[in-house]
Amino acid sequence: MTAQLIDGNALSQQLRTQVATRAQALKAKGITPGLAVVLVGENPASQVYVRNKVKACLDAGLHSVLEKYDASMTEAALLERVEGMNKDPSIHGILVQLPLPAHIDAQKVIEAISPAKDVDGFHIASAGALMTGMPGFWPCTPYGCMKMLESIGYDLKGKHAVVIGRSNIVGKPMALMLLQKNATVTICHSATPDLKAMTLQADVIVAAVGKRNVLTADMVKPGAVVLDVGMNRNEEGKLCGDVDFDGVKEVASYITPVPGGVGPMTITMLLVNTLEAAESASN
Ligand code: NAP
Repeated sequence: MTAQLIDGNALSQQLRTQVATRAQALKAKGITPGLAVVLVGENPASQVYVRNKVKACLDAGLHSVLEKYDASMTEAALLERVEGMNKDPSIHGILVQLPLPAHIDAQKVIEAISPAKDVDGFHIASAGALMTGMPGFWPCTPYGCMKMLESIGYDLKGKHAVVIGRSNIVGKPMALMLLQKNATVTICHSATPDLKAMTLQADVIVAAVGKRNVLTADMVKPGAVVLDVGMNRNEEGKLCGDVDFDGVKEVASYITPVPGGVGPMTITMLLVNTLEAAESASN
């Protein structure tokens, strides 16, 4: 079997067009959805991420401001800036790009963001809302994975999903979202003794580890759906995921590529969350 690709670029394009249409409708009511992106320091990867996020907003007709600060910015100054954005009616979503310099407590900064503007979904109130099934912002990467499953009409009810990775931003929220859609969920991590024994039982596998070839063809049940969140570099410096794509695509029914899979969906869901924050603020 050769798996069908779930094309994150094509799905993103569709969803971003919908965001642009809804943003137009809000603009007609005098509200332009606005995202503030804050970057502290010079991390080269972060600089690329924030530029892409701002550009995606502008392309979809949203308002976006990028605030760049020197790595020496104090925690107190950043908290004060976040507070200012919480009060700014032109800003509906606030994203503080991580990682922050070591002298700043990132969790403290995230908790300072108003939950109503927490479009990254990292605030403890957002995490609690996801856990209890209440309305709130979902973290963009696992939310994007759910949209990918939705796009192929995949019904998770009664299926076994295995999530590899348990970070607060990908693995854990991913597991909760799959659970909410009635999958039976197993979470694997670095202390899981026999990863293959787990993944071989899975109808859906989400790999979110950050290590190449964590998932190989012999670990996948024929016909499983495989979503690859990982972002790594191979020997030639090319972007690749956690999944041995060439091997696994011969066993899986659906697979996401890297690049062009989950990555573009993450930014797309940021736009969706920002739009929805603005829609909520307008009601
Ligand atoms: P993270 O915080 O480093 O978490 C990695 C997880 O993988 C941890 O839970 C770790 O277990 C687990 N793990 C490590 N080695 C393992 C192994 N051999 N077998 C099973 N589990 C293992 O990373 P993250 O932030 O969740 O990100 C994961 C990957 O996704 C990274 O490559 C990141 O760059 C990528 N990512 C991509 C996007 C996107 O937009 N495409 C967004 C976010 C992240 P322990 O908890 O036991 O340490």
